[in-house]
Amino acid sequence: MPCSSAQKGLITRIQKYATKDGPGIRSTVFMKGCPLGCLWCANPEAISSTPEILVHAQRCTSCGKCMEKCPQGAIFLEEGKYRIDRSLCTSCGRCMEVCAANVYEKTGILYTIDALVDELKKDKVFYDASGGGVTFSGGEPLMHPEFIRCAAEKLKENQIHVALETAGYAQWEVFESLLGVIDLVLLDIKFFDPQAHKKYTGISNKIILDNAQKLSAAHMPLVLRFIYIPGINDGKDLMDRIAFATKLNNVKQIDILKYHKLGIGKYNKLGKKYLLEDISEPEDTDLQEAIDFAKQQGLTVTVGG
Ligand code: SF4
Ligand code: SF4
Repeated sequence: MPCSSAQKGLITRIQKYATKDGPGIRSTVFMKGCPLGCLWCANPEAISSTPEILVHAQRCTSCGKCMEKCPQGAIFLEEGKYRIDRSLCTSCGRCMEVCAANVYEKTGILYTIDALVDELKKDKVFYDASGGGVTFSGGEPLMHPEFIRCAAEKLKENQIHVALETAGYAQWEVFESLLGVIDLVLLDIKFFDPQAHKKYTGISNKIILDNAQKLSAAHMPLVLRFIYIPGINDGKDLMDRIAFATKLNNVKQIDILKYHKLGIGKYNKLGKKYLLEDISEPEDTDLQEAIDFAKQQGLTVTVGG
């Protein structure tokens, strides 16, 4: 399908000078919308595919103007605090307009392809000097395949390296449509065990593992990313994921991502509950056995968070 400059994509943010989302210095584009519901998600604002309002409640001066202004009657007082009934809120932003204390923040901005590419091109000098480029992440970028394909085509016209950071949950045809414009896929494999995958993310991993094999057969350079959550997908499951990586042909690197809780504050701002509060963040020493095993298999390993 031909690309239209009027096409728009919903983006939560563009992270400039990113160094952990592929080689070199990069701009990471976080698309909004994801079919998975990982309990540990550090970007919960990127799960819903519609704009949302984050509430910085500690800034509120209790003036009451937002409640008067809300056309949906979605703002109410509870124990002296102004709250949003998310089932009524349409993310119209009227509360933001009247709140002098900047309590409300909208997440999810529509970008045209031209506006996005113009923004990303501003840092080309950094990409060129460092061997970097642009990474599409999310949320799940594969929920926006046409937008990504058209934006990536324009980036390639400007000799900009393009990576895709994905959980891999899409029909193979979606991946296939992007093969010609993507230089590298960073594929998150969260569990090897299908039951555990379903329990903690809401979906089976069969299509994800199938897609990894098809990407391998298509000679797409891959970085496999394995989150490590103590007591949930450590031990055998991590070893099984590493063993799976050795069966693919074109794995440039595996990244072991240590579980962290940096996203908890965003859950509060979205009025959501974080369910893994009792899980501890791992120590580097917890990962040593897995790192040694991966290196013995000839894999290049990084550890991040
Ligand atoms: S307008 Fe802002 S400061 Fe005033 S009550 Fe609403 S959230 Fe609080
Ligand atoms: S975004 Fe609109 S609907 Fe939602 S709480 Fe604010 S004013 Fe009400």
